[in-house]
Amino acid sequence: MAVDESMVHDIVQQVMANMQIASPAAGMHGVFQDMNDAIDASVKAQKIVRGLSMDQREKIVSSIRKRVHEKAEILANMGVNETGMGNVGDKILKHHLTADKTPGTEDIKTIAWSGDRGLTLVEMGPFGVIGAITPATNPSETVICNSIGMIAGGNTVVFNPHPNAKKTTIYTINLINEASMEAGGPDNVAVTVEIPTMETSSIMMKHPSIPLLVATGGPGVVTAVLSSGKRAIGAGAGNPPVLVDETADVRKAARDIVNGCTFDNNLPCIAEKEIVAVDKIADELMHYMITENGCYLADKAVQDKLVQTVITPKGALNRKCVGRSARELLRMAGVEAGPDIRCIVFEGPKEHPLIATELMMPILGMVRVADFEEGVQTSVWLEHGNRHSAHIHSKNVDNITRYAREIDTAILVKNGPSYAALGYGGEGYCTFTIASRTGEGLTSAQTFTKRRRCTMSDSLCIR
Ligand code: NAD
Repeated sequence: MAVDESMVHDIVQQVMANMQIASPAAGMHGVFQDMNDAIDASVKAQKIVRGLSMDQREKIVSSIRKRVHEKAEILANMGVNETGMGNVGDKILKHHLTADKTPGTEDIKTIAWSGDRGLTLVEMGPFGVIGAITPATNPSETVICNSIGMIAGGNTVVFNPHPNAKKTTIYTINLINEASMEAGGPDNVAVTVEIPTMETSSIMMKHPSIPLLVATGGPGVVTAVLSSGKRAIGAGAGNPPVLVDETADVRKAARDIVNGCTFDNNLPCIAEKEIVAVDKIADELMHYMITENGCYLADKAVQDKLVQTVITPKGALNRKCVGRSARELLRMAGVEAGPDIRCIVFEGPKEHPLIATELMMPILGMVRVADFEEGVQTSVWLEHGNRHSAHIHSKNVDNITRYAREIDTAILVKNGPSYAALGYGGEGYCTFTIASRTGEGLTSAQTFTKRRRCTMSDSLCIR
């Protein structure tokens, strides 16, 4: 086999990523053996960050952005190698997105009232040290966007990452501290422990120096932080349906849906997880997905094999299948598919386990409904009250409005792939912490600040 330049480059990146994984904590900034030591270091660093000007904070943020750009490929490789989830190409893109579009200090805005009785300001101040719990699905991406937003807000952050992603997280945290020091900021603006466990998580949640907790993950961790007795931001699970009505551009809808669903092998919590299609266009939609967008139509026998493969007998997700490509999933189920296959599709009832469950895999079940109204009710049922994300393809403004009101989610993408909501192919900023359960929506620097009113009585109004 001929080895070309790009293959050599890929091999070198893989080896480098594996080497970084071999001894992640050796000489790494912000990494401690003991959670209490990590928190103490974070408290000290926050006192320094608190004293920095907004301009100095912004310099740290810019330096983080630069570092993430430089290391995007290594971070992407590490994430895929360590967790076995997602794909390198899309992960590189996700890192560029977090570097470019996570808001910095410009997000911190002051509100002012002036009048006969003086001047009142509401300024956004830091909470102090924030405790953040991060998922395996977007490990470094979440650490980066949390760190940028939290530091821009004047905080420092203690991470308790998913144990399956600890090496990638440690590497990312080191990078953030190096970037801070390079910009004249302190070390330990972001910290973690070498071995994150439920115990280290519990120490962090109970620690008196941490006033705010931010959890990005499934229902268990969100419930845990909300039960902590502290202020908590909960970015929880979703199961986003995409509704397609008879007014949609069906060919474009098929392309957008498959692109959104297959992005990083369906790992983003906002990605299309199932389709609800009105009867009039359902066959046409399926036709375009199969003929133009690399979809494999699974018959009943393959669907059954997939159920047995991706869901355990107890009804839990087989984690080995999360974030795998469509071809890998089919292979695991004993089916060989061609290299062009990107997504697995089938038609089924809304109760089908591959439709009702949040799989985080490129498997798209389609539920056929008689009309738009039934489509709305079916989508609301499938979203399970997560209030997370939902999408629609429609040219009917009344339909879009009705759907948006009924489903009541933090994110609703109209006529585009789901990732448009993260600022990729859509307007707006990026985050990988979408506070669905607690209602802050797409988090950013201002989410990680507290409002402080400052009133001057009878003076400083100069109108
Ligand atoms: P997970 O719930 O298994 O783990 C998330 C984090 O929580 C990990 O650090 C884990 O160690 C920790 N954790 C889990 N249970 C805990 C408990 N009881 N107490 C303390 N810590 C606990 O999730 P995952 O597989 O890493 O990520 C996928 C899930 O996260 C999906 O449900 C996805 O929708 C959700 N998610 C949501 C967002 C969002 O912004 N809303 C973003 C990414 C992922």
